Amino acid sequence: MIFKWQERPWKDWNQLRGRLPHAILIQSGEGLGEFEFAQACAQSLLCEDPRQDQRPCGACRGCDWFSLGNHPDFRLIVPESMAPESREEGAEPARKRSEQIRIEQVRELADFLAVGTHRGGLRVILAYPAEAMNANTQNALLKNLEEPPPATVFLLVTTQPERLLATVRSRCLRFVLPFPPSEPVLRWLKEQGLRQPEAALAGAGGAPLAALKAADTDPERLLLIENLGNPGFDPIALAETVVRVPLWDLVGWLQRWSYDLLLARVAGRVRYGLGHEEVISDAARHCDAADIAAYLRRLAQARALARHPLNAKLFVEDLLLQYRRLVARP
Ligand SMILES: [Zn+2]
Repeated sequence: MIFKWQERPWKDWNQLRGRLPHAILIQSGEGLGEFEFAQACAQSLLCEDPRQDQRPCGACRGCDWFSLGNHPDFRLIVPESMAPESREEGAEPARKRSEQIRIEQVRELADFLAVGTHRGGLRVILAYPAEAMNANTQNALLKNLEEPPPATVFLLVTTQPERLLATVRSRCLRFVLPFPPSEPVLRWLKEQGLRQPEAALAGAGGAPLAALKAADTDPERLLLIENLGNPGFDPIALAETVVRVPLWDLVGWLQRWSYDLLLARVAGRVRYGLGHEEVISDAARHCDAADIAAYLRRLAQARALARHPLNAKLFVEDLLLQYRRLVARP
């Protein structure tokens, strides 16, 4: 849910929850996982059975809805360019999708805010990146911030707070995501298959996700990604090559890729496959969210067996065949 380097900010977030304000401005450097952190915050507010450290349980009705992108008490406000593609095939692909949050998106909140909450808990609005609102849009949002309905929490996420109106900033409690300590970040980058995590992290100015994006060079991993992005790939031939990778790592790569498929399908974003966003969202458009979720469960079971499979090649072929069924196009 949250990245390993976000343990400390998560504790701070929990402190904040004791006296939850109605608007929070999450301020961060770019590439620190700020959007994912804000999502975890939002989900934790909507989870109906949070764990002891307030992390979302991932299993309740609220978490289910949240991860499928249809929680009735949640609104995500992002630029059109980040939103899930429409499913219509062949519909004017050349049209440039807006990088801005439009004023209509904020105005549409009125209906959402006018009624009571569906689950009797909180109602959460997450806007990212907040600086993608121009002055008019920010002013429209300001009205809501000035007279918030009860049980409502606004989470605004920004990497450029100076582009927000002073009036908006002053209505929010500021929550800063600090640059992470390098030790957990380097460990995480190694787990992602980076051979020289120190250089990559330095090259990215200490921002973990930017470092990952810049250093995607593992040959087997690249081959796997190239194949997973091609719905007509040959699972048997691919298994032959990638079976050389430690299976634990391989299943981890498949998990992260498939997690991205689900995220792309329901939220138009990826978390891990930075630099592969287009291929992932293209594949995701042909998948059913429930099928991806089922495949992720299958992968979780497989990972438990990955240290001791009876037959490594069959094990890998099986996972890849199931994946191809998932992304198959009629
Ligand atoms: Zn939950």
